[in-house]
Amino acid sequence: MSGLNLAQLQAVHFIHGPSLVLAGAGSGKTRVITHKIAHLIHNGTPARRIAAITFTNKAAAEMRERASGLIGRQAKEVLICTFHALGVRMVREDGHVLGLKPNFSILDADDVTSILKDCAGGSTDAATARQWQWGISAWKNQGWNARTALAMAQDDHERSLALIMQRYEERLTAYQSVDFDDLIGMPMRLLKNHPEVREKWQKLLAHVLVDEYQDTNATQYELLKLLVGSRAHFTAVGDDDQSIYGWRGATLDNLKRLPVDFPQLQVIKLEQNYRSTSAILRAANNVIGPNPKLFPKTLFSELGEGEPVRVVACDTEEHEAERALARIQTLRASSNPPPAWKDFAILYRANHQAKPFEKALRRANIPYKVSGGTSFFDRAEIKDLCAWFRLWSNNNDDPAFLRAITTPRRGIGHTTLGKLGEFAAQHKTSMFGALFSPMLPALLSKKALDGLLEFGRSINDLEYRARHCLGHEASRGFLLDWLQDIGYEQYLYDSEDSDTVAAARWSNVLEFCDWMAQRAGGQIADAAGTSAHTEVKSLLEVAQNIALLSTISERDSDQDQVVLSTLHASKGLEWPHVQLVGVTEGMLPFKLDDDEGRQQKVSDDIAARLQEERRLMYVGITRAQRTLTVSWTKRRKKGRDMVACLPSRFIAEMQLDATTATENPRDRLRQLRAEFAARSQATPST
Ligand code: ATP
Ligand code: MG
Repeated sequence: MSGLNLAQLQAVHFIHGPSLVLAGAGSGKTRVITHKIAHLIHNGTPARRIAAITFTNKAAAEMRERASGLIGRQAKEVLICTFHALGVRMVREDGHVLGLKPNFSILDADDVTSILKDCAGGSTDAATARQWQWGISAWKNQGWNARTALAMAQDDHERSLALIMQRYEERLTAYQSVDFDDLIGMPMRLLKNHPEVREKWQKLLAHVLVDEYQDTNATQYELLKLLVGSRAHFTAVGDDDQSIYGWRGATLDNLKRLPVDFPQLQVIKLEQNYRSTSAILRAANNVIGPNPKLFPKTLFSELGEGEPVRVVACDTEEHEAERALARIQTLRASSNPPPAWKDFAILYRANHQAKPFEKALRRANIPYKVSGGTSFFDRAEIKDLCAWFRLWSNNNDDPAFLRAITTPRRGIGHTTLGKLGEFAAQHKTSMFGALFSPMLPALLSKKALDGLLEFGRSINDLEYRARHCLGHEASRGFLLDWLQDIGYEQYLYDSEDSDTVAAARWSNVLEFCDWMAQRAGGQIADAAGTSAHTEVKSLLEVAQNIALLSTISERDSDQDQVVLSTLHASKGLEWPHVQLVGVTEGMLPFKLDDDEGRQQKVSDDIAARLQEERRLMYVGITRAQRTLTVSWTKRRKKGRDMVACLPSRFIAEMQLDATTATENPRDRLRQLRAEFAARSQATPST
């Protein structure tokens, strides 16, 4: 237990009751969790009876790695995962009591919007469907189902949304599918309404640890309470100043309620920041200052004053990207040994802001990765493949059925599919189930029927073979053969105008197949040529977990690359050199008078939104260990126009020393030129 301060030790040693570690950024909260896992195991708790819940899959992977540094192989057995992954496991094991098959499908956001459109008769536009999705999701996160929503509806709009939700629920049941919210809601209901299931899980889990507790939502809190029961052996760690998912239903009430619901709660505060220099920490403390204090905290650093925080005013986003690149190059050139690429992060408010930085880095041949952005899994070609996998795993998954049967097109028209859909609805079966009904032939032409049956048989065949296809090598061969059979590469070239784009998409497909195959385990050689043996799985098993894994946009491991990330996705992480870019009023804080913004739904209070934006800035600043640069642009693209911009109010709130902090090389250059010109004019000619 070396490397822990007294307060951290106290948190680690308190194992027979509920505890909350409440502390500012970089104070070692996550470190407490990893050490506490080790401590519990040293004290005789079997590894498999410990659950540690993280906010992202990536954080889970990192925690497992750190835990294995402390306890070795036993770290494998600890249940380290997100709430959603825990939910999947619970519903796979016990969902049958809710009438769900173990091979249920997990729908992604796209599936959900298209089902919602369908529920409303098909003429809805995508923006409206997304609004509905947000509305329904907010209700679900509150623990409501359609019936509750209907009963609670305040106006016509809410009433009609509740009716759509009712139809949506019916479809999901018919498709044997769940959405992401269900992955929390269903386990919660399982534990609440089924004592035998509750006892099983409470018995299994001896201690539950939750990282980033400030960003849990109401349902997750209910789930946690049910998991730990009256024994309440749990550790929550969090920081109210870093709560940045309010727009997605996370609520600070969970922090407030903890001492009320658990009067015996041990609250531990950590005050030393081990991450950042004093200059960086001071800027962070100044920024968060104006926010109302839920739990007052102090935070100090002993890492020395360090370099002053720099503010860079740029002309445009392209100029900002050049400046960012120059900064990286200067830092690399001026230290010995030079920092690695992965020591640099460029953080911004919104995904689209990455573009100019990507371009600049690519031009300079600097390796980088975009995390938290458009996930690999959001690409159309990957979704196509996933639809097939989902269909192998769950024949009742109608959205997957429709996507697979039409990608690539196999001469089965919309009319045929429409008839099949109607027939399936009438007979309360899935579209796949309807294929083999003896009553179907009466409705369709022979050609249409043959096409459908051939597709159905090929799915059955693929499913059977995927079940028996074991390990990395076999899986890779299987996938490539199958892609060849369905003519997927040709389909990409046919559907893209540009061959370059088609080739890029095809290479994504190959990368994806490789990655799937790796997950099937067996003898696998890595890039360095060393080989490892991992547990062998069937390809079907891998496919079944795909929808969940698809939330891992952060699959790639710790390569030496500059990181580009949204502020939201940077939570919990740290880098020696951080540049916060686009710290421009209207970007950060994000324009607060945005009417159609989805945030409106959850909180239409502008002041509350400004506070959340301020916390986002606080999260950004506190990612930096040694140097921090904050930049903004005087002009910004808005649609086709360039608009004039101001620096974010958060820059002033950092209260930096104006003489050392502000730097605009162009201004300085202009000034030098002017001085030079003035001087040469003053010099008498001979
Ligand atoms: P965040 O709020 O950003 O999630 P955190 O409170 O979880 O931060 P950690 O990530 O656990 O903080 O720790 C921040 C850094 O400080 C890490 O590099 C960690 O290894 C280091 N650290 C934490 N505690 C100590 C300690 N007692 N001694 C030395 N280093 C420490
Ligand atoms: Mg942390």
